[in-house]
Amino acid sequence: MFTRIASFFLCWILVAGCQTTPGIDEATLFFNDIAFPSTWNADPVAGIATADANYAGKSIRRWEQPIAIFVGGEKPEGAQAKIDQTFQDAADVTGIRYAFVEDREKANFQIDFDNLDKYVVNTVQHVRCYTRPTSSNGRMESAIVRIGLKDNYAVEHCIVHEILHGLGLGHAHNLPSAVNYRMALERMSKWDRAALQLIYDSRFRGGMTRKDALPMARQMLKTIIEPKQRSDR
Ligand SMILES: [Zn+2]
Repeated sequence: MFTRIASFFLCWILVAGCQTTPGIDEATLFFNDIAFPSTWNADPVAGIATADANYAGKSIRRWEQPIAIFVGGEKPEGAQAKIDQTFQDAADVTGIRYAFVEDREKANFQIDFDNLDKYVVNTVQHVRCYTRPTSSNGRMESAIVRIGLKDNYAVEHCIVHEILHGLGLGHAHNLPSAVNYRMALERMSKWDRAALQLIYDSRFRGGMTRKDALPMARQMLKTIIEPKQRSDR
């Protein structure tokens, strides 16, 4: 009897273990959500849209010009280091060019800290931090990030989460990610780095439609996740 119970438990652990190694379908779904925010999951906790109609007109968004960053407001201790680290992590996998500027007027990426507990966005939503990106034909033109400090226990998470939005990413729902609302990661996950790497790959361009880009992303993801899967076995 003891053996049966023990082996049953072992099987359960193995099954759980298998579920933590995502396959190509889960990786593709992750990329779909993060690269092409649907009309349905524009609400960050609404879940995953499944109908193509929810993605009408969606395309790759990315920076194709250098990013000039201005950081203003009541910057808390450690914030600049977190901003530096996040842009460096992103540049390592994308090749984006970025620099910090002293003059707000010369910036196309502004990050401000305010001594507020909540912002009101979309008329009714209360949030601790937000990003307002603008793009033209899939090419990012500017990003405005605001981060509230009062009662904000998640400033480091906000910094990484909002910078990823400013780089063209939406929300993730099914895998570990700094833009997954069910988690409060303070650094990009390997899946975030994979998504950035793909979005900024030379085979893609800003404005490329989801219909064209998603099948390519699926093929490219196979080469990214396969070495990891082998080493797990
Ligand atoms: Zn968000």
